[in-house]
Amino acid sequence: TDMCVTLSSLYEVIGNSSSPAVTFIKSRVRRMSAHWIKAGLRIKQSSNNTASTKLKVLLYPGALAGSVGQHFESMVERGGPLGELVQWADLSACLTVLGHSLTFSTSQRQLRSLIGAAPGRGSCPIQRPLTFDLIYTDYHGLAHLQGSMGLAFQYYQILDSFGTEPVFNFPSYAHSHGYKTLWGSWGLQPLQYMTMFPHTPDNSFLGFVSEEAVRKDSGEDELESVGDRKDRIAVVYGKQDHMWQGKSEYVTAIGEELEIHATVYWPPGHNLSLPSFIKNHGLLSQEDFLKLLRKAKVFVGLGFPYEGPAPIEAIAQGCIFLQPRFDPPHSSDNNDFYKGKPTTRQITSQHPYAEQFIGKPHVWTVDMTNMTDIREAVKAIVKTEVKPFTPQELTCVGMLERVRGYITHQDFCSKSVPTWPPEKALKVHLGPLGQSCTNVCQRSSLLCEPALFHHLNTPNMFSRLGLGCSSIAQEVNHLFPSYSPWGRRCGLQQEPLLFSCAGSDPSHRRLCPCRAHLPGQVALIFSKT
Ligand code: UDP
Repeated sequence: TDMCVTLSSLYEVIGNSSSPAVTFIKSRVRRMSAHWIKAGLRIKQSSNNTASTKLKVLLYPGALAGSVGQHFESMVERGGPLGELVQWADLSACLTVLGHSLTFSTSQRQLRSLIGAAPGRGSCPIQRPLTFDLIYTDYHGLAHLQGSMGLAFQYYQILDSFGTEPVFNFPSYAHSHGYKTLWGSWGLQPLQYMTMFPHTPDNSFLGFVSEEAVRKDSGEDELESVGDRKDRIAVVYGKQDHMWQGKSEYVTAIGEELEIHATVYWPPGHNLSLPSFIKNHGLLSQEDFLKLLRKAKVFVGLGFPYEGPAPIEAIAQGCIFLQPRFDPPHSSDNNDFYKGKPTTRQITSQHPYAEQFIGKPHVWTVDMTNMTDIREAVKAIVKTEVKPFTPQELTCVGMLERVRGYITHQDFCSKSVPTWPPEKALKVHLGPLGQSCTNVCQRSSLLCEPALFHHLNTPNMFSRLGLGCSSIAQEVNHLFPSYSPWGRRCGLQQEPLLFSCAGSDPSHRRLCPCRAHLPGQVALIFSKT
């Protein structure tokens, strides 16, 4: 099929629901449609016109359905989380521009009629059990879908902002090794989970699009000179007043240099407990929020919410993002928000992606309790000139290329080993004791690629790496393949679902499948897919 150069079909697909969430999604798609269409034309020109198959795709954001949905909807206009909606909006625009045929539903009842006609557990891909080639949903939706159509799991892609590591996903292992959480244990292929940021290479990085600085309609890449129009103001990141608790000293220190603005939701008839020097606009529409960022010099993180889209948008509008460092890092062991989330990640700051993938001069990570450091940082920031910046992977073109790559190459139906990325991309690294493959590859500026594990899960690989094994065991163990110097024990992985980039142990040296990636686009190796 040809790529679509209009989004008009999408407005019909999303429907006329006046719910706050659907309204947010639609207005975001509308506002960004010109960017999407332009990006669609660009990647159409750059690809060698190989026709891709037009797929029937169902989008079912379970978080917007049923009683969970009612609660979510009620929070949209009260400072509740909007990151998921950003992602659903961008995914639907992206798939439409790629030329696929979309169905969008947030109703459990409609879901039954959409897929209920042909219930079945047909074996894939010979006997398609469904009217859809591909289904995007989330953890809530997974439960609804299971009720309606059984376990045709191969067709699912799960939008999962924070990610799910293999140990939490594989039910019997999660159960017997203490990795059981509310969310995990579905036994999918870990790459079926799609994250908001490239959190863990064990999952697919879906991402979203950060709105870039406004471009003049005329000139191709002529940026409005955003940087020149910066006022001496800071916008604080925090839509709800609980996010501000205990932060007044920090905010006051920043307020010595900059006028402080906020967008805190203001319940009618309630008093807000914000310090009086703060100019609160109340929760803004996304458009007005971006306008405010365009004027601001600094976007200030309070430590919560974690890993959202707003700091990326701020940096794209030429702001510097100032955020707290977490030492010790936050994780599911010590933090209520991450408790029960199926990840062992250690969160070193409010926005580790901004810290690690973007960094200075756009991102400054500070100790929030050290007022001297904060004052010095703010003084330096005020003198620092920065240009608006957007990582390539968070642009429309970047998302189109990535999602097209996934749709073309990822095959969760196949019982055989994955064939993408190709073996020639593999760079085998032997990790030191106590290091995960995620870290081992990252330290060499590479990425751990779980789809390449099977190439190094062989007895020969140990000798190729100069390791003499006294024994070679096959085990169900998420650290395998690995080498233990005590007793020179070599271990191979018996369960493909437990191939895991995450995971480390002081007595194991892991065998790691690393690969290179495009600059600014970690998901891809080659620009043409
Ligand atoms: N946002 C908004 N109005 C505001 C503040 C933020 O529409 O007053 C938008 C912002 O543009 C971003 C989205 O809210 O795209 C989600 O922001 P955040 O990073 O806070 O993530 P969340 O925790 O809501 O998922």
